[in-house]
Amino acid sequence: MAEAGLCIAIDGPAASGKGTVARLVARRLGYRYLDTGAMYRATALAAREQGVSWSDADGVAAVARQLRFDFRWSGTGLDVLVDGRDRTRQLRAQDVGEGASAVAVHPPVRAALVALQQAMAQDGGVVMDGRDIGTVVMPDAPLKVFLTASAEERARRRWRELSDRGTRVPFGQIVAELEARDHQDSHRKAGPLRQAGDAVVVDTTGLSAEQAAARVIGIALERGARLPDHP
Ligand code: C5P
Repeated sequence: MAEAGLCIAIDGPAASGKGTVARLVARRLGYRYLDTGAMYRATALAAREQGVSWSDADGVAAVARQLRFDFRWSGTGLDVLVDGRDRTRQLRAQDVGEGASAVAVHPPVRAALVALQQAMAQDGGVVMDGRDIGTVVMPDAPLKVFLTASAEERARRRWRELSDRGTRVPFGQIVAELEARDHQDSHRKAGPLRQAGDAVVVDTTGLSAEQAAARVIGIALERGARLPDHP
């Protein structure tokens, strides 16, 4: 296991910094990074494109089972390829995020994506982020992190992310949307957002992504991860 690397699970609410921190940790340790939110987003997008309603559990699960995912590092970060096409930009759209949350309530959709995620984690040396990674996808991961940040800080981050992309949304609307998403993600029956009993909580309020990542890397090193010879 020491050679292949650890499995690191990072969970937390929307805009808690999971994706940025997970990417930094994966890069530093030379691990693969798997963005499971992108898989739920891609499923919602593909369902819409194929005319399958987000409320049709079996129909959406059939769509999910057909998708092929590749994650590739690029100059700007991580590209998400779905069936060989780069869908990175479309997947980040606000309505696709809402669709992801809508399709993620269906047990057959979760079963299809969780099976895929577990297969991708089999060889170790992976950082995976989502909502149910430490509880359902990798319950035996030697390092589970639960990232949090105050609601206000998370709304500020989301506002900045959107305005960097040229989208101006009133701050109050962002707070309301984050609250609605958190509520839906925490209260669904299948794979709800929940902190694993043995997770390390990292509150990123007032921390930069680099500082939060440094904490996670520090714990990973204590638990047997090794820095690559040529980072
Ligand atoms: O993390 P991200 O915002 O990309 O996730 C989009 C949605 O996908 C979440 O709101 C959540 O409903 C769903 N999701 C999930 N389980 C995961 C990752 C994401 O249910 N492991």
